[in-house]
Amino acid sequence: MAKMTVKDIDIKGKKVLIRVDFNVPMKNGEITDENRIVEALPTIKYVIEQGGRAVVFSHLGRVKEEADKAKNSLAPVAKRLSEHLGQTVKFVPVTRGVELEVAVAGLKNGEVLMFENTRFEDIDGNKESKNNAELGKYWASLGDVFVNDAFGTAHRAAASNVGIASNVKTTVAGFLLEKEINFIGGTLENPERPFVAILGGAKVSDKIEVIQNLLKIADKVIIGGGMAFTFFKAMGYEVGKSLLEQDKVELAKELLTIANGKIELGDDVYTGKAFDAETERNIRKIDQIPADEMGLDVGPNTIEIFKSYIKNAKTVVWNGPLGVFEFPKFAEGTKSVAKTIASIKDQATTIIGGGDSAAAVIQFGLQDGFTHISTGGGASLEYLEGKVLPGIACVNDK
Ligand code: ADP
Ligand code: MG
Repeated sequence: MAKMTVKDIDIKGKKVLIRVDFNVPMKNGEITDENRIVEALPTIKYVIEQGGRAVVFSHLGRVKEEADKAKNSLAPVAKRLSEHLGQTVKFVPVTRGVELEVAVAGLKNGEVLMFENTRFEDIDGNKESKNNAELGKYWASLGDVFVNDAFGTAHRAAASNVGIASNVKTTVAGFLLEKEINFIGGTLENPERPFVAILGGAKVSDKIEVIQNLLKIADKVIIGGGMAFTFFKAMGYEVGKSLLEQDKVELAKELLTIANGKIELGDDVYTGKAFDAETERNIRKIDQIPADEMGLDVGPNTIEIFKSYIKNAKTVVWNGPLGVFEFPKFAEGTKSVAKTIASIKDQATTIIGGGDSAAAVIQFGLQDGFTHISTGGGASLEYLEGKVLPGIACVNDK
């Protein structure tokens, strides 16, 4: 990788600022999914083992007024982190000031401190989220080196990533950020071919730039999910009550022209009369969708067509479910494709970038069948769009 990582620097005795993504889902003060904590452990453990003094911080939720503070405190996360590490994590319930400075100064080699939610600074003029210069400089002053390991926020320049980086000599990537750069960035830069991209989800408008970018790089772009219907409409088919973005039909036409046969949409869909888990399921060829039905999943023949491309792929990038997988009746397309991708794991690099697609694969219990499941929703989408992510750009090159 062209970016420096935590392995490239001297850590012993240093105050190491570690920006992680601890934006975990919480309910009534309890963490409901601790995956993000688990994903951050390798970097934190490495810093401790090397004798660094770890200053760990993150944002959590949105904090716009005083009343948002209580439910978005990182205190429960610090407690979980301490349990995972098997050592004390000193939690400092502020984001700046003497209490924090004294605590950092008192850290010994191998000790860990966590301070409060970086977005507590948003109450006073969005300082964190708008990358306030003074705030980035202040946090930078607390440490000797900066490790950015927060991929989930890499698509936004905040004081706690880009702000700190512009005020320290050395910014390096943590292991999680490194993994995302290698798998998503590396794959887009230099994919083994055939490279099959699979795009789904609800709306074309969310994914236009991903489609445009992957059309340039991939050998085949498979499109399913709700957004396929805007393409079917662009091809002249009637789509009944299916999800349709009328104002994107012209764009879909243009994309189909540019694609010159590279886009594959299949030729049938599973439909229902209502957006309802219990609605009756029918199979319809795409030129025979009744006016009172909507497409809720890719059809059985389409699934076979999609599989035939996936089976020969050496690289697969997947973003967006192919049907309303939340309804078991309409999960077949998403599930079959997930299984097919898992079946080629030994011959191909297979990557999922997308919150709901990742959730689907985990729901099917197929997560081990993939080379990489990205931890960032918005960040992986923008990375797939080919954008430069500020949180990656601010890491020093090797
Ligand atoms: P991701 O988070 O993986 O990027 P999206 O957020 O773009 O995916 O889209 C996920 C949503 O798309 C799911 O909730 C799914 O139900 C919905 N979806 C998929 N196919 C259809 C369809 N045919 N009609 C309506 N919604 C659909
Ligand atoms: Mg989503």
